[in-house]
Amino acid sequence: MRISSLSLRLRLTLLMALILTIACISLMAASIYAARVVYVLPQPVPEFGIEAGRGGELLPVPIPPVPVPVPPVPVSTEQQIDFASIGFLCAMLIIAIGTGITYLVAGKALKPVTDLSTEIEKIDEHNLYRQVQVPPSKDEVARLSLSFNRMIHKLEKAFLAHKHFSANAAHELRTPLAAMMARIEVVQLGDPPTLEEYEEALDDTRKNAERLSTLIQDLLKMNADMNRAACGTFAAKELFQTILSELGGELLSKNIRIEARLEDVSLYGERNLLHRAFSNLLHNAIKYNKPNGSIRITAVHHSDTTQITIADTGIGIPEDHLDKIFEPFYCVDKSRSRELGGSGLGLSISKAVIAKHGGEIQVQSETGVATAFSIQLPNARSIP
Ligand code: ADP
Repeated sequence: MRISSLSLRLRLTLLMALILTIACISLMAASIYAARVVYVLPQPVPEFGIEAGRGGELLPVPIPPVPVPVPPVPVSTEQQIDFASIGFLCAMLIIAIGTGITYLVAGKALKPVTDLSTEIEKIDEHNLYRQVQVPPSKDEVARLSLSFNRMIHKLEKAFLAHKHFSANAAHELRTPLAAMMARIEVVQLGDPPTLEEYEEALDDTRKNAERLSTLIQDLLKMNADMNRAACGTFAAKELFQTILSELGGELLSKNIRIEARLEDVSLYGERNLLHRAFSNLLHNAIKYNKPNGSIRITAVHHSDTTQITIADTGIGIPEDHLDKIFEPFYCVDKSRSRELGGSGLGLSISKAVIAKHGGEIQVQSETGVATAFSIQLPNARSIP
């Protein structure tokens, strides 16, 4: 049987038994040694001295009595054995009692831990909302219970987000598929369809297939890993120029004015991923902007981070939606987003990309007036 397979209570008891045994053996050895030193047999004391007589002969003379301490009584071998046996018995008794007390005390001291583990065992994926009781004490068990509750709360949130995401993804993928199937059935059911009906059905099917493909690509992008080897430093101005030239058609159609202050600012990261993140933000800034509106892009270098702000003069985001817009598939107005070709994944992708770079994204908005997204990206030398 391995020690690690024993309960904490038994381990503590065994440890205490070991300590008591070592202490008792040492004490016994010390006391036996001390007894031997103290109870030594007395040396014979000479009763007479010797001095020279008149004729030169040596004569014994009585030595004046010197006050000597009373010598200890000599110890017989039987007494020594008795002493050792009694000591041994006492030691055994102390070890047994000490071990028993340790077992009881350890059981009592570890009861909150046992209770906590019993409560934790009752929690599974179906009742992640349950919290364990936090004992009123301010000890390690109370701190452990608090940490566990915090962890289980985060786990529950992640679990719910995952469930939500799967349901939304399934729904978003099913909608264009269902539309395609319905269109095909209509063509198949009726009289032999005309060429226009065929063309119309094909056109619809193509649009839905494109929508499916965009969705799948977006989902893949959201989960794409960052390739550290592909990271590098590049000019912010150059990146935004490329994005704006791609979005040129939309800018023109809404007559949006761009104001960019990006001189001498460089960014560090995987260019393709950052391109996607900023492109989504700029795309939204155009999509949700008013005709003849404007977009301001600024970048500022700090010691550890670079802050990029994309502000537009668009419709804004109501305050109660601000904390949800980064969730996958979340749209403030579902039908408007769909009309504009969105599926609610744009900001989630941007947030995921920024997070992969160790950065953060925040939003500030005033309904009907303006929206500003602010991104902090770590500089090359502050990335671990
Ligand atoms: P989508 O644009 O496809 O709906 P996003 O994830 O890009 O999805 O955005 C989520 C929601 O946030 C949008 O539905 C929109 O209502 C809101 N939003 C994002 N950017 C802006 C913006 N610049 N101005 C106003 N609303 C915005």
